[in-house]
Amino acid sequence: MTKCLLLAAIAAVALPLPAVAQTMDAAALRDAALRDEIAWDITEGLTTEVGPRLAGTEAEARARTWAVTKLKALGFSNVRVELFQMPVWVRGEETAEVVAPFPQKLHLTTLGNSGATPADGMTAEIVYFPSLADLQAAPEGSLKGKIAFVSHAMHATQDGSSYGYYGRVRFQGPGIAAQKGAAAIVIRSVGTDHHRNPHTGGTNFPKGVTPIPAAALSIPDAEQLERIVKRGQPVRLKLVLTPRQIGMRESGNVIAEVPGSDPAAGIVLVGGHLDSWDLGTGAIDDASGVAITAAAAKRIMDAGTPRRMIRVVWFGAEEVGVFGGRAYAAKNGGDNHVVAAESDFGADRIWRFKVNLPDSAKAIGDRLATALFPLGIARSAEKAGDGADVGPIMAKGVAAIDLNQSGLDYFNLHHTPDDTLDKVDSEKLRQNVAAWTAMLAVVANAPEEIGPVTPAR
Ligand code: ZN
Ligand code: ZN
Repeated sequence: MTKCLLLAAIAAVALPLPAVAQTMDAAALRDAALRDEIAWDITEGLTTEVGPRLAGTEAEARARTWAVTKLKALGFSNVRVELFQMPVWVRGEETAEVVAPFPQKLHLTTLGNSGATPADGMTAEIVYFPSLADLQAAPEGSLKGKIAFVSHAMHATQDGSSYGYYGRVRFQGPGIAAQKGAAAIVIRSVGTDHHRNPHTGGTNFPKGVTPIPAAALSIPDAEQLERIVKRGQPVRLKLVLTPRQIGMRESGNVIAEVPGSDPAAGIVLVGGHLDSWDLGTGAIDDASGVAITAAAAKRIMDAGTPRRMIRVVWFGAEEVGVFGGRAYAAKNGGDNHVVAAESDFGADRIWRFKVNLPDSAKAIGDRLATALFPLGIARSAEKAGDGADVGPIMAKGVAAIDLNQSGLDYFNLHHTPDDTLDKVDSEKLRQNVAAWTAMLAVVANAPEEIGPVTPAR
Protein backbone atom coordinates (compact mmCIF):
# COMPACT_ATOMS: atom_id res chain seq x y z
CA MET A 1 0.00 0.00 0.00
CA THR A 2 1.47 3.35 -0.99
CA LYS A 3 1.44 6.22 1.47
CA CYS A 4 -1.32 7.89 -0.57
CA LEU A 5 -3.53 4.85 -0.52
CA LEU A 6 -2.90 4.39 3.20
CA LEU A 7 -3.98 7.99 3.87
CA ALA A 8 -7.03 7.48 1.69
CA ALA A 9 -7.91 4.33 3.63
CA ILE A 10 -7.57 6.16 6.95
CA ALA A 11 -9.70 9.01 5.62
CA ALA A 12 -12.30 6.53 4.42
CA VAL A 13 -12.55 5.04 7.91
CA ALA A 14 -12.67 8.44 9.59
CA LEU A 15 -15.11 10.04 7.18
CA PRO A 16 -17.50 7.68 5.43
CA LEU A 17 -18.23 10.07 2.55
CA PRO A 18 -20.15 9.08 -0.56
CA ALA A 19 -17.68 8.25 -3.33
CA VAL A 20 -18.52 11.23 -5.52
CA ALA A 21 -18.07 13.73 -2.75
CA GLN A 22 -14.50 12.58 -2.10
CA THR A 23 -13.55 13.60 -5.61
CA MET A 24 -14.54 17.21 -4.94
CA ASP A 25 -11.38 19.00 -3.91
CA ALA A 26 -12.40 22.40 -2.54
CA ALA A 27 -8.91 23.88 -2.97
CA ALA A 28 -8.60 22.78 -6.59
CA LEU A 29 -12.10 23.99 -7.44
CA ARG A 30 -11.37 27.29 -5.70
CA ASP A 31 -8.16 27.85 -7.63
CA ALA A 32 -9.79 26.94 -10.95
CA ALA A 33 -12.57 29.44 -10.20
CA LEU A 34 -9.99 32.25 -10.12
CA ARG A 35 -10.14 31.94 -13.92
CA ASP A 36 -13.96 31.99 -14.01
CA GLU A 37 -15.74 33.54 -17.00
CA ILE A 38 -19.29 32.46 -16.14
CA ALA A 39 -20.06 35.18 -13.60
CA TRP A 40 -18.87 37.94 -15.90
CA ASP A 41 -20.90 36.44 -18.76
CA ILE A 42 -24.07 36.50 -16.62
CA THR A 43 -23.45 40.01 -15.24
CA GLU A 44 -22.64 41.41 -18.68
CA GLY A 45 -25.56 39.61 -20.33
CA LEU A 46 -28.23 40.57 -17.82
CA THR A 47 -27.19 44.23 -17.60
CA THR A 48 -26.83 44.56 -21.39
CA GLU A 49 -29.75 42.50 -22.72
CA VAL A 50 -32.26 43.46 -20.02
CA GLY A 51 -30.80 46.54 -18.31
CA PRO A 52 -32.78 48.15 -15.46
CA ARG A 53 -35.40 45.77 -14.04
CA LEU A 54 -37.72 47.45 -11.57
CA ALA A 55 -39.83 44.95 -9.63
CA GLY A 56 -43.23 44.12 -11.07
CA THR A 57 -42.58 45.80 -14.41
CA GLU A 58 -42.33 44.41 -17.92
CA ALA A 59 -38.54 44.75 -17.62
CA GLU A 60 -38.42 42.42 -14.63
CA ALA A 61 -40.56 39.91 -16.57
CA ARG A 62 -38.00 40.04 -19.40
CA ALA A 63 -35.28 39.44 -16.83
CA ARG A 64 -37.06 36.24 -15.73
CA THR A 65 -37.26 35.03 -19.32
CA TRP A 66 -33.57 35.85 -19.77
CA ALA A 67 -32.71 34.04 -16.54
CA VAL A 68 -34.59 30.86 -17.47
CA THR A 69 -32.85 30.71 -20.84
CA LYS A 70 -29.44 31.30 -19.27
CA LEU A 71 -29.82 28.83 -16.40
CA LYS A 72 -31.07 26.11 -18.76
CA ALA A 73 -28.18 26.77 -21.14
CA LEU A 74 -25.76 26.39 -18.22
CA GLY A 75 -27.20 22.92 -17.61
CA PHE A 76 -29.06 23.41 -14.33
CA SER A 77 -31.95 21.05 -13.46
CA ASN A 78 -35.57 21.92 -12.72
CA VAL A 79 -35.28 25.50 -13.96
CA ARG A 80 -38.60 27.14 -13.15
CA VAL A 81 -40.37 30.38 -12.30
CA GLU A 82 -42.61 30.84 -9.27
CA LEU A 83 -44.87 33.84 -9.81
CA PHE A 84 -46.42 36.00 -7.11
CA GLN A 85 -48.37 39.24 -6.94
CA MET A 86 -47.05 42.47 -5.43
CA PRO A 87 -47.97 46.18 -5.32
CA VAL A 88 -46.01 48.14 -7.90
CA TRP A 89 -44.71 51.70 -7.62
CA VAL A 90 -43.32 53.49 -10.68
CA ARG A 91 -41.28 56.68 -10.96
CA GLY A 92 -42.64 59.79 -12.69
CA GLU A 93 -41.15 63.22 -13.23
CA GLU A 94 -38.66 64.41 -10.62
CA THR A 95 -37.29 67.93 -10.47
CA ALA A 96 -36.42 70.38 -7.72
CA GLU A 97 -35.39 74.00 -7.56
CA VAL A 98 -34.62 76.54 -4.91
CA VAL A 99 -37.11 79.36 -5.51
CA ALA A 100 -35.70 81.70 -2.85
CA PRO A 101 -33.37 83.15 -1.70
CA PHE A 102 -30.92 81.88 -4.36
CA PRO A 103 -32.88 80.39 -7.29
CA GLN A 104 -31.24 77.29 -8.80
CA LYS A 105 -32.00 73.72 -9.78
CA LEU A 106 -31.11 70.74 -7.58
CA HIS A 107 -30.53 67.08 -8.50
CA LEU A 108 -32.72 64.57 -6.70
CA THR A 109 -34.55 61.29 -7.18
CA THR A 110 -37.83 60.00 -5.81
CA LEU A 111 -37.81 57.29 -3.13
CA GLY A 112 -39.76 54.08 -3.68
CA ASN A 113 -43.31 54.30 -2.24
CA SER A 114 -43.11 58.11 -2.24
CA GLY A 115 -46.34 60.04 -2.62
CA ALA A 116 -46.75 62.55 -5.47
CA THR A 117 -46.92 66.32 -5.75
CA PRO A 118 -49.53 67.88 -8.05
CA ALA A 119 -48.45 67.55 -11.71
CA ASP A 120 -47.30 71.18 -11.73
CA GLY A 121 -45.47 70.74 -8.44
CA MET A 122 -45.62 72.24 -4.98
CA THR A 123 -43.64 75.07 -3.41
CA ALA A 124 -43.01 75.39 0.32
CA GLU A 125 -40.50 76.52 2.89
CA ILE A 126 -38.00 73.96 4.12
CA VAL A 127 -37.18 73.06 7.73
CA TYR A 128 -33.63 71.77 8.12
CA PHE A 129 -32.66 68.83 10.34
CA PRO A 130 -28.99 67.78 10.57
CA SER A 131 -29.97 64.25 11.63
CA LEU A 132 -32.90 61.86 11.91
CA ALA A 133 -32.86 62.35 15.70
CA ASP A 134 -33.45 66.08 15.14
CA LEU A 135 -36.45 65.29 12.92
CA GLN A 136 -37.75 62.89 15.57
CA ALA A 137 -37.45 65.64 18.18
CA ALA A 138 -39.52 68.14 16.16
CA PRO A 139 -42.82 68.95 17.93
CA GLU A 140 -45.98 67.34 16.52
CA GLY A 141 -47.60 69.52 13.86
CA SER A 142 -44.55 71.80 13.63
CA LEU A 143 -43.92 70.81 10.02
CA LYS A 144 -47.42 71.57 8.76
CA GLY A 145 -47.21 72.69 5.14
CA LYS A 146 -43.39 72.58 5.19
CA ILE A 147 -40.79 70.46 3.41
CA ALA A 148 -38.56 68.62 5.88
CA PHE A 149 -34.89 68.50 4.84
CA VAL A 150 -32.81 65.88 6.67
CA SER A 151 -29.13 65.98 5.80
CA HIS A 152 -27.52 63.21 7.81
CA ALA A 153 -24.12 62.41 6.25
CA MET A 154 -23.40 58.69 5.84
CA HIS A 155 -19.96 57.24 6.54
CA ALA A 156 -18.95 53.88 5.11
CA THR A 157 -17.77 50.90 7.13
CA GLN A 158 -16.10 47.81 5.73
CA ASP A 159 -18.81 45.56 7.15
CA GLY A 160 -21.65 47.70 5.78
CA SER A 161 -23.22 48.06 9.21
CA SER A 162 -23.45 51.85 8.91
CA TYR A 163 -26.19 51.38 6.29
CA GLY A 164 -28.52 50.18 9.01
CA TYR A 165 -27.80 53.32 11.04
CA TYR A 166 -27.75 56.02 8.35
CA GLY A 167 -30.29 54.19 6.19
CA ARG A 168 -33.00 54.90 8.75
CA VAL A 169 -33.17 58.46 7.38
CA ARG A 170 -34.55 56.91 4.18
CA PHE A 171 -36.43 53.93 5.66
CA GLN A 172 -38.21 55.89 8.42
CA GLY A 173 -37.63 59.62 7.81
CA PRO A 174 -40.51 60.15 5.35
CA GLY A 175 -42.98 58.36 7.63
CA ILE A 176 -41.88 60.44 10.63
CA ALA A 177 -42.09 63.70 8.65
CA ALA A 178 -45.57 62.75 7.39
CA GLN A 179 -46.74 62.04 10.95
CA LYS A 180 -45.54 65.50 12.00
CA GLY A 181 -47.59 67.11 9.24
CA ALA A 182 -44.88 67.78 6.64
CA ALA A 183 -46.07 68.36 3.06
CA ALA A 184 -42.96 66.64 1.66
CA ILE A 185 -39.44 65.54 2.62
CA VAL A 186 -36.06 65.68 0.94
CA ILE A 187 -33.09 63.82 2.43
CA ARG A 188 -29.39 63.77 1.75
CA SER A 189 -28.81 60.59 -0.25
CA VAL A 190 -27.83 57.56 1.79
CA GLY A 191 -24.46 57.26 0.07
CA THR A 192 -20.79 58.06 0.38
CA ASP A 193 -19.77 59.46 -3.03
CA HIS A 194 -19.42 63.09 -4.08
CA HIS A 195 -20.99 62.81 -7.50
CA ARG A 196 -24.16 64.56 -8.52
CA ASN A 197 -26.03 61.25 -8.58
CA PRO A 198 -28.85 60.88 -6.10
CA HIS A 199 -29.38 57.47 -4.46
CA THR A 200 -32.88 56.03 -4.63
CA GLY A 201 -34.25 53.20 -2.48
CA GLY A 202 -37.47 52.22 -0.80
CA THR A 203 -39.13 54.01 2.07
CA ASN A 204 -42.06 53.02 4.26
CA PHE A 205 -45.02 54.87 5.69
CA PRO A 206 -46.63 53.45 8.83
CA LYS A 207 -50.13 52.00 8.43
CA GLY A 208 -52.70 54.75 8.24
CA VAL A 209 -50.16 57.47 7.35
CA THR A 210 -50.73 58.98 3.89
CA PRO A 211 -47.50 58.91 1.87
CA ILE A 212 -45.99 62.35 1.21
CA PRO A 213 -43.64 63.20 -1.66
CA ALA A 214 -40.19 61.95 -0.61
CA ALA A 215 -36.92 62.31 -2.48
CA ALA A 216 -33.15 62.10 -2.03
CA LEU A 217 -30.83 64.92 -3.08
CA SER A 218 -27.42 64.04 -4.49
CA ILE A 219 -24.77 64.60 -1.85
CA PRO A 220 -23.31 67.78 -3.45
CA ASP A 221 -26.86 69.15 -3.77
CA ALA A 222 -27.65 68.36 -0.12
CA GLU A 223 -24.46 70.16 0.92
CA GLN A 224 -25.39 73.10 -1.32
CA LEU A 225 -28.83 73.30 0.28
CA GLU A 226 -27.24 73.18 3.76
CA ARG A 227 -25.03 76.16 2.85
CA ILE A 228 -28.06 78.05 1.56
CA VAL A 229 -29.93 77.31 4.81
CA LYS A 230 -26.98 78.53 6.88
CA ARG A 231 -27.19 81.99 5.22
CA GLY A 232 -30.15 82.44 7.58
CA GLN A 233 -32.99 83.44 5.24
CA PRO A 234 -36.15 81.36 4.71
CA VAL A 235 -35.53 78.84 1.92
CA ARG A 236 -38.35 77.96 -0.46
CA LEU A 237 -38.19 74.85 -2.60
CA LYS A 238 -40.29 73.81 -5.59
CA LEU A 239 -40.70 70.04 -6.04
CA VAL A 240 -42.22 68.13 -8.94
CA LEU A 241 -42.44 64.43 -8.06
CA THR A 242 -45.08 62.39 -9.86
CA PRO A 243 -44.60 58.70 -9.05
CA ARG A 244 -47.63 56.40 -9.06
CA GLN A 245 -48.80 53.21 -7.39
CA ILE A 246 -50.16 51.12 -10.26
CA GLY A 247 -51.71 48.33 -8.22
CA MET A 248 -50.96 44.62 -7.97
CA ARG A 249 -48.73 43.16 -10.67
CA GLU A 250 -46.81 39.96 -11.30
CA SER A 251 -43.27 39.32 -10.12
CA GLY A 252 -41.48 36.01 -9.67
CA ASN A 253 -38.55 33.98 -8.41
CA VAL A 254 -36.39 32.01 -10.84
CA ILE A 255 -35.16 28.70 -9.41
CA ALA A 256 -32.52 26.26 -10.68
CA GLU A 257 -30.98 23.20 -9.07
CA VAL A 258 -27.90 21.03 -8.91
CA PRO A 259 -29.28 17.68 -7.70
CA GLY A 260 -27.52 16.00 -4.78
CA SER A 261 -26.67 12.33 -4.29
CA ASP A 262 -28.25 12.14 -0.81
CA PRO A 263 -31.77 13.63 -0.75
CA ALA A 264 -31.95 13.18 3.04
CA ALA A 265 -28.94 15.51 3.51
CA GLY A 266 -31.02 18.56 2.64
CA ILE A 267 -30.71 21.61 0.41
CA VAL A 268 -28.07 24.35 0.31
CA LEU A 269 -29.87 27.54 -0.77
CA VAL A 270 -27.86 30.27 -2.51
CA GLY A 271 -28.70 33.26 -4.69
CA GLY A 272 -29.27 36.96 -5.04
CA HIS A 273 -31.99 39.19 -6.42
CA LEU A 274 -32.95 39.59 -10.05
CA ASP A 275 -34.77 42.92 -9.78
CA SER A 276 -32.92 46.23 -9.62
CA TRP A 277 -33.67 49.88 -9.18
CA ASP A 278 -34.55 51.68 -12.37
CA LEU A 279 -31.82 54.35 -12.47
CA GLY A 280 -28.80 52.19 -13.36
CA THR A 281 -28.56 48.69 -14.81
CA GLY A 282 -28.20 47.01 -11.41
CA ALA A 283 -24.73 45.63 -12.13
CA ILE A 284 -23.46 45.61 -8.55
CA ASP A 285 -26.99 45.41 -7.08
CA ASP A 286 -27.52 42.65 -7.79
CA ALA A 287 -26.61 41.20 -11.20
CA SER A 288 -23.19 40.35 -9.78
CA GLY A 289 -24.78 38.53 -6.83
CA VAL A 290 -26.94 36.26 -8.97
CA ALA A 291 -23.96 35.75 -11.27
CA ILE A 292 -21.47 34.86 -8.52
CA THR A 293 -23.74 32.30 -6.85
CA ALA A 294 -24.89 30.68 -10.10
CA ALA A 295 -21.32 30.51 -11.42
CA ALA A 296 -20.15 28.79 -8.23
CA ALA A 297 -23.04 26.29 -8.33
CA LYS A 298 -22.29 25.57 -12.00
CA ARG A 299 -18.65 24.88 -11.19
CA ILE A 300 -19.67 22.37 -8.51
CA MET A 301 -22.16 20.75 -10.92
CA ASP A 302 -19.44 20.35 -13.54
CA ALA A 303 -17.13 18.71 -10.97
CA GLY A 304 -19.56 15.91 -10.09
CA THR A 305 -22.65 15.26 -7.99
CA PRO A 306 -22.49 16.96 -4.59
CA ARG A 307 -23.94 15.19 -1.54
CA ARG A 308 -26.55 17.92 -1.00
CA MET A 309 -28.75 19.59 -3.55
CA ILE A 310 -27.67 23.16 -4.35
CA ARG A 311 -30.68 25.33 -5.09
CA VAL A 312 -29.99 28.64 -6.81
CA VAL A 313 -32.72 31.27 -6.49
CA TRP A 314 -32.76 34.57 -8.34
CA PHE A 315 -35.34 36.38 -6.24
CA GLY A 316 -37.82 38.89 -7.65
CA ALA A 317 -38.89 42.19 -6.07
CA GLU A 318 -36.27 42.48 -3.32
CA GLU A 319 -35.63 46.21 -3.59
CA VAL A 320 -39.20 47.28 -3.01
CA GLY A 321 -39.88 45.14 0.04
CA VAL A 322 -38.45 41.58 -0.14
CA PHE A 323 -41.61 40.24 -1.77
CA GLY A 324 -39.68 37.45 -3.53
CA GLY A 325 -37.98 36.23 -0.36
CA ARG A 326 -41.29 36.05 1.47
CA ALA A 327 -43.06 34.36 -1.46
CA TYR A 328 -40.25 31.78 -1.68
CA ALA A 329 -40.46 30.97 2.02
CA ALA A 330 -44.26 30.77 1.91
CA LYS A 331 -44.16 28.26 -0.94
CA ASN A 332 -40.96 26.34 -0.17
CA GLY A 333 -40.41 26.87 3.54
CA GLY A 334 -41.33 23.26 4.22
CA ASP A 335 -38.42 21.95 2.11
CA ASN A 336 -35.42 20.58 3.97
CA HIS A 337 -33.12 23.62 3.71
CA VAL A 338 -30.00 23.07 5.81
CA VAL A 339 -27.87 26.09 4.86
CA ALA A 340 -28.75 29.45 3.28
CA ALA A 341 -26.42 32.12 1.87
CA GLU A 342 -26.96 35.18 -0.30
CA SER A 343 -24.72 37.53 -2.31
CA ASP A 344 -26.23 41.03 -2.27
CA PHE A 345 -23.50 43.50 -1.41
CA GLY A 346 -21.87 44.28 -4.74
CA ALA A 347 -18.86 42.78 -6.43
CA ASP A 348 -15.95 43.95 -4.30
CA ARG A 349 -13.49 41.51 -2.73
CA ILE A 350 -14.77 39.17 -0.04
CA TRP A 351 -12.75 40.01 3.09
CA ARG A 352 -14.30 37.81 5.78
CA PHE A 353 -16.80 35.05 6.37
CA LYS A 354 -19.24 34.26 9.13
CA VAL A 355 -21.12 31.08 9.99
CA ASN A 356 -24.14 30.17 12.04
CA LEU A 357 -23.83 26.40 12.31
CA PRO A 358 -25.03 23.98 14.97
CA ASP A 359 -22.35 22.67 17.36
CA SER A 360 -22.59 19.25 15.71
CA ALA A 361 -21.41 20.80 12.43
CA LYS A 362 -18.72 23.09 13.88
CA ALA A 363 -16.00 21.33 11.90
CA ILE A 364 -17.50 22.74 8.69
CA GLY A 365 -16.51 26.23 9.87
CA ASP A 366 -12.93 25.08 10.37
CA ARG A 367 -12.79 23.51 6.90
CA LEU A 368 -14.24 26.72 5.44
CA ALA A 369 -11.47 28.72 7.08
CA THR A 370 -8.86 26.44 5.53
CA ALA A 371 -10.52 26.79 2.12
CA LEU A 372 -10.97 30.57 2.30
CA PHE A 373 -7.75 31.83 3.94
CA PRO A 374 -5.80 31.53 0.65
CA LEU A 375 -8.20 34.08 -0.85
CA GLY A 376 -7.37 36.56 1.91
CA ILE A 377 -10.68 35.96 3.67
CA ALA A 378 -10.71 36.23 7.47
CA ARG A 379 -12.96 34.34 9.83
CA SER A 380 -15.37 36.43 11.88
CA ALA A 381 -16.66 35.37 15.29
CA GLU A 382 -19.99 37.05 14.53
CA LYS A 383 -23.01 34.94 13.68
CA ALA A 384 -23.99 34.73 10.00
CA GLY A 385 -27.42 35.86 8.89
CA ASP A 386 -27.09 38.37 6.02
CA GLY A 387 -29.27 38.53 2.94
CA ALA A 388 -32.76 40.02 2.83
CA ASP A 389 -34.19 37.38 0.49
CA VAL A 390 -32.99 34.39 2.49
CA GLY A 391 -34.00 36.09 5.76
CA PRO A 392 -37.43 34.40 5.95
CA ILE A 393 -35.75 30.98 5.49
CA MET A 394 -33.02 31.74 8.05
CA ALA A 395 -35.72 32.88 10.48
CA LYS A 396 -36.95 29.27 10.51
CA GLY A 397 -33.64 28.25 12.09
CA VAL A 398 -31.75 27.27 8.92
CA ALA A 399 -27.95 27.45 9.30
CA ALA A 400 -26.30 30.40 7.55
CA ILE A 401 -23.01 31.34 5.93
CA ASP A 402 -22.07 34.89 4.94
CA LEU A 403 -19.27 35.70 2.53
CA ASN A 404 -18.88 39.43 3.14
CA GLN A 405 -17.71 41.80 0.44
CA SER A 406 -16.01 45.04 1.44
CA GLY A 407 -18.50 47.83 2.01
CA LEU A 408 -15.99 50.68 1.77
CA ASP A 409 -16.93 51.65 -1.80
CA TYR A 410 -20.36 50.02 -2.18
CA PHE A 411 -22.32 53.12 -1.14
CA ASN A 412 -20.59 55.26 -3.75
CA LEU A 413 -22.74 53.49 -6.35
CA HIS A 414 -25.61 51.87 -4.46
CA HIS A 415 -29.02 52.68 -6.04
CA THR A 416 -27.58 55.39 -8.32
CA PRO A 417 -27.60 55.81 -12.11
CA ASP A 418 -23.92 54.88 -11.86
CA ASP A 419 -24.60 51.23 -10.91
CA THR A 420 -23.44 49.99 -14.30
CA LEU A 421 -21.27 47.19 -15.66
CA ASP A 422 -18.06 49.23 -15.97
CA LYS A 423 -17.96 49.41 -12.14
CA VAL A 424 -17.60 45.63 -11.85
CA ASP A 425 -13.94 44.57 -11.58
CA SER A 426 -13.62 41.19 -13.27
CA GLU A 427 -10.71 40.10 -11.03
CA LYS A 428 -12.66 40.89 -7.86
CA LEU A 429 -15.66 39.11 -9.35
CA ARG A 430 -13.49 35.99 -9.83
CA GLN A 431 -12.32 36.16 -6.21
CA ASN A 432 -16.00 36.09 -5.23
CA VAL A 433 -16.70 33.08 -7.44
CA ALA A 434 -13.67 31.28 -6.01
CA ALA A 435 -14.88 31.88 -2.45
CA TRP A 436 -18.43 30.75 -3.21
CA THR A 437 -17.17 27.70 -5.09
CA ALA A 438 -14.95 26.70 -2.16
CA MET A 439 -17.82 27.29 0.26
CA LEU A 440 -20.21 25.14 -1.76
CA ALA A 441 -17.63 22.39 -2.22
CA VAL A 442 -17.19 22.22 1.56
CA VAL A 443 -20.81 22.68 2.64
CA ALA A 444 -22.66 20.70 -0.03
CA ASN A 445 -20.36 17.73 0.54
CA ALA A 446 -19.95 17.92 4.31
CA PRO A 447 -20.49 14.50 5.94
CA GLU A 448 -21.91 16.08 9.09
CA GLU A 449 -25.65 16.48 9.40
CA ILE A 450 -26.55 20.18 9.60
CA GLY A 451 -29.39 20.70 12.05
CA PRO A 452 -31.26 23.85 13.08
CA VAL A 453 -29.69 26.90 14.73
CA THR A 454 -30.84 29.98 16.62
CA PRO A 455 -31.18 32.66 13.93
CA ALA A 456 -28.84 35.65 14.14
CA ARG A 457 -31.74 38.06 13.68
ZN1 ZN B 1 -29.59 44.35 -3.35
ZN1 ZN C 1 -30.44 47.49 -3.38
